[in-house]
Amino acid sequence: MAGKRDYYEVLGVAKNASADEIKKAYRKLALQYHPDRNPGNKEAEEKFKEAAEAYGVLSDPQRRQQYDQFGFEGMNGGGVGGFGSGGMSMDDIFSMFGDVFGGRGGGFGGFEDLFGGGRRRGRPDPNAPERGSDMEMELDIDFDEAIFGSKRTIDLDCPDACPACHGSGAAEGSKRVTCPTCHGQGAIVGGSGFFQIRQTCPKCNGSGSVIEKPCRTCGGSGRVRGRHKVELRIPRGVGDGTRLRLGGKGGGGLRGGEPGDLYVVLRVKDSDTFERDGLDLFVDVPVSLATAALGGSVEVPTPDGVATLKIPAGTPNGRVMRLKGKGVPSLRGGSPGDLTVRISVEVPQRISGDQRRALETFAAAFKDANYPLKQDFDARVKTFLSHKKKLEG
Ligand SMILES: [Zn+2]
Ligand SMILES: [Zn+2]
Repeated sequence: MAGKRDYYEVLGVAKNASADEIKKAYRKLALQYHPDRNPGNKEAEEKFKEAAEAYGVLSDPQRRQQYDQFGFEGMNGGGVGGFGSGGMSMDDIFSMFGDVFGGRGGGFGGFEDLFGGGRRRGRPDPNAPERGSDMEMELDIDFDEAIFGSKRTIDLDCPDACPACHGSGAAEGSKRVTCPTCHGQGAIVGGSGFFQIRQTCPKCNGSGSVIEKPCRTCGGSGRVRGRHKVELRIPRGVGDGTRLRLGGKGGGGLRGGEPGDLYVVLRVKDSDTFERDGLDLFVDVPVSLATAALGGSVEVPTPDGVATLKIPAGTPNGRVMRLKGKGVPSLRGGSPGDLTVRISVEVPQRISGDQRRALETFAAAFKDANYPLKQDFDARVKTFLSHKKKLEG
């Protein structure tokens, strides 16, 4: 992914730009580099795509957060694709960001209005293949699955082509006939004088034809609810909010159209053992009083297995040690985070008589021992109390 420009740089906005600023910046670039304005200009097309990719990420709060946190690495869930690798086709761009251009419901209307004519010439063809719908779902996973990766099987309810009519929406033996409302024009014209308002025909949705007799299984929509079993591989190092894209695992296409994509947004549960901040991990490790005083070693869990950590003699409670590279593995081969270990000196509980006597011997032997924290504390208390005396008179 070398040479890829930062998404904020592409859109020319600040890192803290508002959703509105991002949308405005994208709209400006999209208009400037729109293929209808730059016919045959490869560079403009690349710029157009680059802007769309940046907008695709920065306009989605979750993906934006992920990008802010992990950069391009965070953008591609486990090699299943995404904008970063495969790139977007022009049709993707128009259908996804129609709203930016002022079009209706993901259509390309705004551009058509703007440039007069535009890409979608003529009426939508009711017999043309239609791509299946994209689906998005959330999936709760355990903390450990996010660290080690895992495999899941998902039962997904999603729209498929109706098996009775194969997605045509027409009952058997029935066919499409010219729309009686618009007489096949796909649009109706109203108004008078100067102002003529041309409007998409509401009866046939602009296709110019309607189904004679709707299919009884799907009510004419061409789609029914389907159940898919989807195998999902969760890569190592995903985080809360990571969005995985499974190409072709969404709703079924109509009339030979491609299936849509499935997006799975991961929700990672908290761990009882670790705290996580991005790729960095934090763990509290209990160490006995004797080990802290005499020195020794302690075993620390890491994503790579158990690490043995040396405890120097005289280690105080709360001492922090960093194990570089022992944090969460990076999604895309970058360096892993760090593991920060905090020593938690544990005082023995429920001691036996022998143990009590041993501690009493210890206490006696350590009556005048060197306790730097205690000495420092005593000195500060003394100063404080002398101020009380002085200031209160
Ligand atoms: Zn049907
Ligand atoms: Zn019509």
